[in-house]
Amino acid sequence: MTETERHEYDVLVIGAGGAGLRAAIAARERGLRTAIVCKSLFGKAHTVMAEGGCAAAMGNVNDNDSWQVHFRDTMRGGKFLNSWRMAELHAKEAPDRVWELETWGALFDRTPDGRISQRNFGGHTYPRLAHVGDRTGLEIIRTMQQRIVALQQADHTETGDYEARLRVFAECTVTELLTDDDGAVAGAFGYWRESGRFIEFSAPAVVLATGGIGKSFQVTSNSWEYTGDGHALALRAGANLIDMEFVQFHPTGMVWPPSVKGILVTEGVRGDGGVLKNADGDRFMFGYVPDVFKGQYAQTEDEADRWYEDQENNRRTPDLLPRDEVARAINTEVKEGRGSPHGGVYLDIASRMPADEIRRRLPSMYHQFKELADVDITAEPMEVGPTCHYVMGGIDVDPDTGQSRVPGLFATGECAGGMHGSNRLGGNSLSDLLVFGRRAGLGAADYVAGVRRRPAARREAVEAAAEMTLAPFAPAAHGAGENPYTLHAELQRMMNDLVGIIRTESEMTEALDRLGALRERVRDVAVEGHRQYNPGWHLALDLRNMLMVGEAVASSARTRTESRGGHTRADHPGLDPEWRRRALLTARDRDGRDDVVVPRVAVEQAERAPMREDLLALFDLTELEKYYTAAELTAHPQGGT
Ligand code: FAD
Repeated sequence: MTETERHEYDVLVIGAGGAGLRAAIAARERGLRTAIVCKSLFGKAHTVMAEGGCAAAMGNVNDNDSWQVHFRDTMRGGKFLNSWRMAELHAKEAPDRVWELETWGALFDRTPDGRISQRNFGGHTYPRLAHVGDRTGLEIIRTMQQRIVALQQADHTETGDYEARLRVFAECTVTELLTDDDGAVAGAFGYWRESGRFIEFSAPAVVLATGGIGKSFQVTSNSWEYTGDGHALALRAGANLIDMEFVQFHPTGMVWPPSVKGILVTEGVRGDGGVLKNADGDRFMFGYVPDVFKGQYAQTEDEADRWYEDQENNRRTPDLLPRDEVARAINTEVKEGRGSPHGGVYLDIASRMPADEIRRRLPSMYHQFKELADVDITAEPMEVGPTCHYVMGGIDVDPDTGQSRVPGLFATGECAGGMHGSNRLGGNSLSDLLVFGRRAGLGAADYVAGVRRRPAARREAVEAAAEMTLAPFAPAAHGAGENPYTLHAELQRMMNDLVGIIRTESEMTEALDRLGALRERVRDVAVEGHRQYNPGWHLALDLRNMLMVGEAVASSARTRTESRGGHTRADHPGLDPEWRRRALLTARDRDGRDDVVVPRVAVEQAERAPMREDLLALFDLTELEKYYTAAELTAHPQGGT
């Protein structure tokens, strides 16, 4: 086998976004030797791109806010499919995690009386998002990197070595998890992006924090790292994925010019007063308030506008309905011929706020449109449309510890599932990373403390991982040789067209057939050149992951015959309470159909755990009746029958 560099740690964290960094800090604070591996530069992750803010019920702007209101909003946003335990922990712990960041040096925007300011966002009853202008993620990552440096300095003082307990391996891609003879995690295998040299980590606990899957779709706000690696690594190691049919299309991505199509326009624009209009100049969202939200949103423009100033006596604007509702509404407006010239709708902040104020509150948006589209958002409206943004589905984990069903394998952040149900509320990801990143780090530390014998990776698995990684360099053995960029473009187009915002059974079946054909072609993927910084090779390896994830999404979407949150079936347009109780679990299919290059997956139904009674009691029975079966509601104190 080719030469491989080897390292031993107690906890290996794969991913250096908010979730990975918070997990690594927690494990290191327990005194464990912790490695952080990331395929991008250290500091370049999706968390850095987060604009709008971090949701936490601190009640600084409206003291009616509380963890109970945040919990209710999160469950409503997810249409009651969320892991209620995760939603509970998240709502209760998010404020402490935000405060903690300030103790580590973060500086959030302030209210006039000096408290952390909070802004409105879709689906949140009260202003709740702690923010730093529209560059919140940058401040969060900067702060956690600073915390990591502080911990390394403490280690240096004690041991003379900055990296004694915490080391970062940047631009290093993990291609396979390693397990021992009993199926427990034993480490990971990967390569340095710059040199192409192999690297093997030995660790009894691995935390996956690799983010999302957006690069499987053509129009996306996500950048090149989001190829679903963690999802696929977990599947191949024996973990389950949950809720993979739920993919969030953010309603407002840029639609023009084509080179920047999909880049995000933060929901903060609407939170701060921006409104959506169609080509006729109508504020069309008033026509799209679904029955389940009737009574909670303003019915007239006057009331909606008054709400920005007086939230006690007015209802919120429907421009701030949860993202799935707004994305579907925009889709309909465009389809019915009321779209903007480039196939979107208009987002107008220019007519609603002085230019200086727009530049102060939304500096990144101002520059983004000026530089990329030559549009001055202080003078004219933006053209926007839906873009693939976030995956609610992910690795199925224990809510309290983040452990998957594979011993020693943990997951957190966007690559973990459950927390957001069928649709994530804006701002709930950054808080999710902080709450569950910490919990996964602690979960991994507790697990390591209980391990009696360090697991040893199966040597044949390490050799197979190396062989698989080198396969694209040996096209002769693989037939004609497929170009990874061509395959990727075909996959993205197909996922966008068939597995996008609106789905049907026949489209899902066609998608699965097309994925089957791509699976065959990916065996023949061939790259030129050598292992030193070779992006074509990197993409060829990522394709395996994207195909597995694509199959998980399409199979789950075909199985769920209802519409809910980020999964809309034109052939099954309504919510079905029977489906609320059911989760779809995706696992590696070991039933005689296995394929070593892109292992096949199988989707199974499972019952969701019933919500604890004290949490159920936080909702009015009449509201729950829109989602639950009568039998489930007998546990409600208002006495469902
Ligand atoms: P990331 O921050 O993406 O980190 C993933 C890490 O995994 C990276 O370091 C990557 O290099 C690494 N990685 C991946 N695969 C491998 C591999 N095979 N080997 C090694 N390393 C690997 N959410 C909010 O709550 N509020 C917002 O305002 C907000 N705004 C957003 C704006 C944009 C433009 C985008 C794209 C998202 C936004 N989100 C927002 C969502 C939120 O930013 C993400 O969901 C969140 O940052 C994901 O964090 P993470 O730690 O799970 O993953």
